[in-house]
Amino acid sequence: MMLGEVLAIGDELIHGALLDTNSKYLAGQLEALGVVVQRFTVVSDDPAQLRAAIADCCARADVVVATGGLGPTLDDRTRDVVAELCGGPLQFDAASWQQTQAWLVSRGRPVPDSNRRQAMLPPGASALPNPVGTAPGFAVTIGRARFFAMPGVPREMHVMLRDQVLPAIQAMPGLAPIAQAWLRVLGPSEAALGERIEDFMHAGREPAVGITASGGLLTIRIVARGATRAAAAAACEATAAELRPRLGSWLFAEGTCELPQLVLDRLRRAGRTLAVAESCTGGLIAARLTDIAGASEVLQGGVVAYANEVKQGLLEVPVELLAAHGAVSEAVAAAMAENLRRLAGSDLAVATTGIAGPGGGSADKPVGTVCFAIAGANGTRAWTVRIPDLGRGFIRDRAVFEVWRALLSEP
Ligand code: ATP
Ligand code: MG
Repeated sequence: MMLGEVLAIGDELIHGALLDTNSKYLAGQLEALGVVVQRFTVVSDDPAQLRAAIADCCARADVVVATGGLGPTLDDRTRDVVAELCGGPLQFDAASWQQTQAWLVSRGRPVPDSNRRQAMLPPGASALPNPVGTAPGFAVTIGRARFFAMPGVPREMHVMLRDQVLPAIQAMPGLAPIAQAWLRVLGPSEAALGERIEDFMHAGREPAVGITASGGLLTIRIVARGATRAAAAAACEATAAELRPRLGSWLFAEGTCELPQLVLDRLRRAGRTLAVAESCTGGLIAARLTDIAGASEVLQGGVVAYANEVKQGLLEVPVELLAAHGAVSEAVAAAMAENLRRLAGSDLAVATTGIAGPGGGSADKPVGTVCFAIAGANGTRAWTVRIPDLGRGFIRDRAVFEVWRALLSEP
């Protein structure tokens, strides 16, 4: 088993100015290779802190991937600190300096002498060329670990990881090939699902089975290791085959596809088109669907009908209906969906109308009340969900999720 750790370096990361997205990406890539990632560390550029963090990571893991602190300025200290840990001065690497100069020249930029700092390597380190930036990375052995330092800029890190670091890790001894599978579950609570598959979930089970809840959706992740990739895949599939019948109709998809993609796939397979009438979701449903290439095969269009005038004018919702039930009502949601289905000529139309807050709630219809409707050839279904008032963003995201859920479970 190869143990891995991820280290994100930079003052801006610990002062709350910048979200560490590199670590998430790195961990996903390492796990896919079969490295067991056991810890993330985020540390400032302070030399003492940085030295301790690198030494600790390298004492615990077989492979440590770090990003940040390789820039040309004096506050980028990763190189110096690693040199100290390696017990010697930085050494000038002529080949790296050549590459840095060539890159700057190719972009028509001046070649500041301070960039020479980036061509300095800790003793014993090998350079990792950077084809899309000025800072080369490096690889060096510290303690039990192979330590990989990469630039913080995500675009540069991605290329270096893919072309240099992952192949180097793959060539290290001790990597157990891994296979993963994801079973997507809709319906039960996390606790109910946990009970249904309890006997699969004890710590140390091989293949490992875990449940993640995210945005109202549950995912069962199966991770298998084996002597070969094929053996790992077979073990993974064996567990998946045992789990599927346990899940029955709860199982609605497999893999890591996002929900909007699954919705589009399902509607496309059924040969159905869709239109969306959005009030409180303000176009989010249409935006998520149109993020995906090929959405036009399914999505006919959408209307953001925020004001009552637009519900009346564009979606032809009768003013009497609005007066009698209020804009946030199943009757209005149903009228929005039915009328848009007719106007857009789609097979299905969905509508949302709700109170996203923070204002606008009442005792009757508190903030978080959202009414939905789906209109289709076999009639219209309208329903109401009371989404917990955890903020406007949460309520709107949950409302969008409810639409995915409905479209995935609609007969
Ligand atoms: P450069 O050669 O560009 O200076 P560097 O190795 O010094 O690279 P940093 O100065 O630490 O990298 O970071 C450069 C930029 O990369 C940051 O301003 C930030 O936008 C992005 N970045 C750095 N670390 C991370 C991280 N952990 N997650 C996401 N983005 C990051
Ligand atoms: Mg920097």
